[in-house]
Amino acid sequence: MLFPTHLLVAVGISRLADHSWVRRRLPSAPTLSAGWLVAGAALPDIVDKPLGALGVVDTYHSVGHSVLLVPLAVAVAARYRRGLALAVGWGSHLALDAFHVVVNGRAGDALFLAWPVRTRSDPLALPPVEFARFYVGSPSFYVELGLWLAAVLIVLRSRLDAGREDGR
Ligand SMILES: [Zn+2]
Repeated sequence: MLFPTHLLVAVGISRLADHSWVRRRLPSAPTLSAGWLVAGAALPDIVDKPLGALGVVDTYHSVGHSVLLVPLAVAVAARYRRGLALAVGWGSHLALDAFHVVVNGRAGDALFLAWPVRTRSDPLALPPVEFARFYVGSPSFYVELGLWLAAVLIVLRSRLDAGREDGR
């Protein structure tokens, strides 16, 4: 998925975790910091895109996108409240990237999750700008458009509700 959509979903997870409906049903569930969720969601690309661009590895999905980091993420999540949010954000990035390749009919490309045990070079080896050109118009791209549209509608609705509250 595109980088901004990962950040959007992280904010959405934070909002969902704080929603009164969720808090009523899961009162003991920890709250998740939006900032740390967003940081976790950004982490895979912040680590892996420079590594790919510098030629350290031959793909743009490597160590930051690898499930080999799950033990580290679990340890950080178990030890620190912020670490939990960071790990959830990181996990959401991996899940969405895997979801996007499956939706686009390239389920085999989800093997990026097993880096460096298994690697797929095409199209994950495309630099970010070329990848965006490749990606626009794919089924997953339209899923992302739907997510952004939903986010805009949610923000507009909350502003309208707030306006009604002020008008009373
Ligand atoms: Zn990614």
